[in-house]
Amino acid sequence: MLNLLITRKLPDPVLDKAREVFDVTVRDNTAPLSRDELIQSLSAYDVVLPTLGDAYRADIFDAVPEKRTKLLANFGVGYNHIDAVAAWAAGIEVTNTPGAVTDATADIALTLMLMTCRRAGEGERLVRSGQWDGWHPTQLLGLHMSGKTLGVVGMGRIGQAIAQRAHFGFGMAVKFYNRSAKKMPFPAEQVAELTDLAAQVDVMVIAVPGGAETHHLIDAAVLNAMQPHAHLVNIARGDVVNEADLIDALTQSRIAGVGLDVYEFEPKVPQALIDMENVTLLPHLGTAALEVRTAMGLMAVDNAIAFAKGQPLPNRV
Ligand code: NAP
Repeated sequence: MLNLLITRKLPDPVLDKAREVFDVTVRDNTAPLSRDELIQSLSAYDVVLPTLGDAYRADIFDAVPEKRTKLLANFGVGYNHIDAVAAWAAGIEVTNTPGAVTDATADIALTLMLMTCRRAGEGERLVRSGQWDGWHPTQLLGLHMSGKTLGVVGMGRIGQAIAQRAHFGFGMAVKFYNRSAKKMPFPAEQVAELTDLAAQVDVMVIAVPGGAETHHLIDAAVLNAMQPHAHLVNIARGDVVNEADLIDALTQSRIAGVGLDVYEFEPKVPQALIDMENVTLLPHLGTAALEVRTAMGLMAVDNAIAFAKGQPLPNRV
């Protein structure tokens, strides 16, 4: 029987399925693997099921001359914590869990869009503070999101699910910026330049993968191009946005507000963001629903099982 390391506790049905095929070790720690654990994992396990923050960089593969691991079956669609090119060079396959995360993450994007546009976090803090003195017509006026223009940066699975919700649910016009040309099954205009998209929309949502290609894609130039009444939402990866530039833009009221699920130096959140009322902060909730985490886990385990049976990997990255 091959052995399998699962780097964080996962829902029981996932562990049960994995145990049908593998000798399973479930690591009892919610933090990402340390450097020592990363190195040790590659010499001790046939398959590793890692997740967010388990940083399998090139130097980790280099540090293990005799690698036992043949597959990193990532839990999550985003795998920017794994250097996949270095993994392949080391003879290790990498899989992920596309699709299982799409609707739940799009729902969190809509949550953040509404929260930032309608000042919901600020309103909730007001009620909880005991300082709310009752309704009046000019209190906490936000941006009416229905019928406005949405800009999607990265029109992939999640970007499209966000755009569909915004278009069909909120009557929003949709514009998008994407690496390759794409046609949507609903009205949506592709804009060639990111700064042009930024200038044309009321709400801009980031849905590109993390990694070197998208690092700091959203910088001062893009933020400066946005309209002062516009809001930014990031559900992708924190370092897609230059957080220092974002803080400057908010401090100087160059944009109206921001909704974040992810952070550049996660889980560190800058005090400057915490201190601003027009900043909505969620703790990386994109896929945080039991049935979604179960579906993601089962998908990751399916990849591991396919490997164990010598079958083609369903979700090779
Ligand atoms: P996907 O289907 O691969 O979509 C990514 C899209 O981004 C593709 O359309 C791709 O364009 C585009 N893109 C890639 N690089 C780009 C660039 N440099 N400039 C412009 N567009 C670019 O991925 P997905 O399933 O939608 O997931 C997207 C990301 O969301 C994941 O990688 C993950 O990091 C993040 N995520 C976050 C959470 C959360 O909990 N907050 C949950 C799930 C996922 P092409 O058409 O050219 O490929």
